[in-house]
Amino acid sequence: MADSKKVAEVLRKIAQAVEQEKDALTALDRAIGDGDHGINLARGFGAVAARLDEAANASVGAILKMAGMTLVSTVGGASGPLYGTAFLKAGAAVGEKTEMDSNDFIRAFDAAIAGIAMRGKAQQGEKTMLDALIPALNALREDPDFANGLRRAVKAAEAGVEYTKTILATKGRASYLGNRSIGHADPGAASSLLILQVIAQEVLG
Ligand code: ADP
Ligand code: MG
Repeated sequence: MADSKKVAEVLRKIAQAVEQEKDALTALDRAIGDGDHGINLARGFGAVAARLDEAANASVGAILKMAGMTLVSTVGGASGPLYGTAFLKAGAAVGEKTEMDSNDFIRAFDAAIAGIAMRGKAQQGEKTMLDALIPALNALREDPDFANGLRRAVKAAEAGVEYTKTILATKGRASYLGNRSIGHADPGAASSLLILQVIAQEVLG
């Protein structure tokens, strides 16, 4: 499915997409947070992209761990440690392989979600990135065909972002707003969708 080189390429594309969508993500965060989500992620994934050349000959697990450590250390907001933990756990799940298959991907995705839930003490339905990611993983798991599953995972994440508009935030800064968070999409769910879109696009070609 993806060797180390491909994984590095996907991370580079994620950095580009986040940079492109920086203002849109920040606008979402301005509505229910402090308006830095796009800036945070552009800084973090930009730093990841800058380190990919050093990691050119590394295993998939080592590249993902490098990405995780870089996100933790370069992103100030809550999303840095959350996405950082996600990539660290994904890297640990894949391990020292230089090629990951679809089962590795599903295990890594599952570990990433568990990492976010643990670090954020969050679950589905709290208006966070998990509301995009958990339905996406479920859709991927339900489809016996990995490529189809990945397409359905993106659709499920889109629906998850829409769903976050309907619910109250109970985690993170948006929770300070109480009922006023209703009607707005969660920025972290939107960035999770973006990351999944890039992964699907790169893997499906
Ligand atoms: P900050 O809130 O520190 O400014 P960001 O703006 O970069 O950080 O990220 C905000 C996003 O992080 C939210 O939209 C939400 O998806 C996610 N988030 C915040 N707190 C939690 C948590 N405890 N668990 C899971 N996700 C969270
Ligand atoms: Mg913020």
